[in-house]
Amino acid sequence: MSEKKVVSETLYDGYAQSFTVTEQLFEVKTEHQHLEIVETPFMGRVMLLDGVVQTTEKDEFIYHEMMVHVPLFAHPDPKRVLIIGGGDGGIVREVMRHKNIEHVTQVEIDASVVEMCKEYFPRHSQGAFDDVRLNLVIADGKEFVANCKEKFDVIISDSTDPIGPGEVLFTSDFYADEKNNCLAEGGIMVAQNGVPFMQGEEISNTYTRLSRLYNDTSFYVMPVPTYVGGFMTLAWASDDAGLRRQTAEQIRQRLEASAIETRYYNADVHVAAFALPNYVQALMK
Ligand code: SAM
Repeated sequence: MSEKKVVSETLYDGYAQSFTVTEQLFEVKTEHQHLEIVETPFMGRVMLLDGVVQTTEKDEFIYHEMMVHVPLFAHPDPKRVLIIGGGDGGIVREVMRHKNIEHVTQVEIDASVVEMCKEYFPRHSQGAFDDVRLNLVIADGKEFVANCKEKFDVIISDSTDPIGPGEVLFTSDFYADEKNNCLAEGGIMVAQNGVPFMQGEEISNTYTRLSRLYNDTSFYVMPVPTYVGGFMTLAWASDDAGLRRQTAEQIRQRLEASAIETRYYNADVHVAAFALPNYVQALMK
């Protein structure tokens, strides 16, 4: 009988979620971070980086569907996608379901995350890492965008929180290089931006930095149970404000034409996700 123990998340001082763990499947201190994968009866397998929950088998569909389908159905004709981070494979899985996408570059700093998630979270990537459209680059996303010579219609930054290797992906320099070097005309950028009830300063910092670069900067939300503290925000930026204000009917037509089936995302949820409560709007200063 494997020993039962409890693992608590270390993201916040004085507040934590914890999991009963039936087995520690993998643990290593990589060159960049502490990587741990555990089996839990409640959420299935859970991956933590530096003690912070990154993804779970049970609720990953919410985050990955919303991070991918909102920008890819908002953009009128996306062909090329850049993913920063996303080493667990959930983002690239959802992107590859869009048959109109011709090329994906994914820039992940830690090869161990990709390799271990292929092994322990096969349902996350579902073979997407082998898709012929994918160019997987093991590198720091900040260095990649600083030297990038290619343009992408949609950029998805699925990074860890702004601690450790992910910190550079929340800086003004990163956002400027990302937009100036990597984003095509009419492009959309989205980025993991924390739980506003718990990490409100992330909203304020990101809003200030992105609104200096883009005509339209905002956020959209979704409830991911293991990103504790209420709903999570994703940053949204583009130079065409109309891309964020399309009707559910416009989105529905694209979703139906794609024949993509989802468990969380739909056209009404797409539109509603951009409705922000006052306390979040108050952080956008
Ligand atoms: N969905 C999760 C969340 O919202 O916190 C993120 C999941 S994904 C596992 C985060 C990925 O970002 C990890 O694989 C990590 O190695 C990667 N990462 C962190 N800093 C990075 C950087 N500077 N460049 C590229 N990838 C980075």
